[in-house]
Amino acid sequence: MPAYAGPIYIMSNLTFGIIKPDAVKKGVHGTIIQRVLDNGFKIRGMKLIHQTRRQAEGFYEVHKERPFFGELTEFMSSGPCVVMVLEKENAVKAWRDLMGATNPAEADEGTLRKEFASSIGENAVHGSDSEENAAIEIAYFFSKLELV
Ligand code: ADP
Ligand code: MG
Repeated sequence: MPAYAGPIYIMSNLTFGIIKPDAVKKGVHGTIIQRVLDNGFKIRGMKLIHQTRRQAEGFYEVHKERPFFGELTEFMSSGPCVVMVLEKENAVKAWRDLMGATNPAEADEGTLRKEFASSIGENAVHGSDSEENAAIEIAYFFSKLELV
């Protein structure tokens, strides 16, 4: 888990999302943000960052034994991305439903990954997989003062 010493607040109406470097490079981050709003999410925090390799490795530490860890952290540090704190009822599931399957070839019609992902690795968006991980991931990128 990413090193974080402060309190973790688990909120069932919040999740954490990333518009990944492939989507920002293609210039579709604005379109994706509009889709977020159109789908009833409130944006509670948002910023454009360019992660270092070390920051990406810390974020994806749970995947460090997976064969694609090197490729994934190289990609995530290859350019700017947009990190977001999203609010909606059952936010974790609602955001993953809008993102679609990890592999765009398996993603449903109307999902962000179906429309914007290039491959299973460069798949446009990230979303937390549980409320616990959403709290950890929000705290990895945002201070309390950055959330509205
Ligand atoms: P998700 O992002 O849908 O929660 P995972 O947590 O399983 O998916 O994987 C994290 C990220 O690692 C994926 O979004 C994708 O960018 C990358 N990834 C997953 N599987 C592969 C793979 N087989 N090859 C390359 N990259 C992968
Ligand atoms: Mg995941």
